[in-house]
Amino acid sequence: MREAIRLSVENVKNGGGPFGAVIARNGEIVATGVNRVTADCDSTAHAEVNAIRAACKALGRFELSGCEIYTSCEPCPMCLGAIYWAHLDRMYYGNDKNDAARIGFDDAFIYKEISLSPLQRRLVSLRLLPEEAAKAFSDWEGKEDKTRY
Ligand SMILES: [Zn+2]
Repeated sequence: MREAIRLSVENVKNGGGPFGAVIARNGEIVATGVNRVTADCDSTAHAEVNAIRAACKALGRFELSGCEIYTSCEPCPMCLGAIYWAHLDRMYYGNDKNDAARIGFDDAFIYKEISLSPLQRRLVSLRLLPEEAAKAFSDWEGKEDKTRY
């Protein structure tokens, strides 16, 4: 956790957002990540997502079971989802989402939106061409040699 915090402090000095993350396995650091949203012009370049991408690359796997993530701040909904998709065993965080909201990083709106039905969300969300979209799903279901994740 101290390394995740150190990365978050260092990232502010380097012009990035105040977030850092570390992924470890058996007490050894596998990969780290910092917030690079503005530096990379990438709205998804959060510390946790960057750390997950780096850890997957380092281990040559698309899932990170057996690993833990240390993040300087409680994750936003996108990063929390990524943590679940990566199958990390455990998460530790320093600042919480209320601390983040106080400095202008308020995720409460997104958490609330997720709980609403698509038609209730502020983001206009309309279903189009479901019959055509279903083809990839039926192809996937029938595929014998697929890699599940
Ligand atoms: Zn995030």
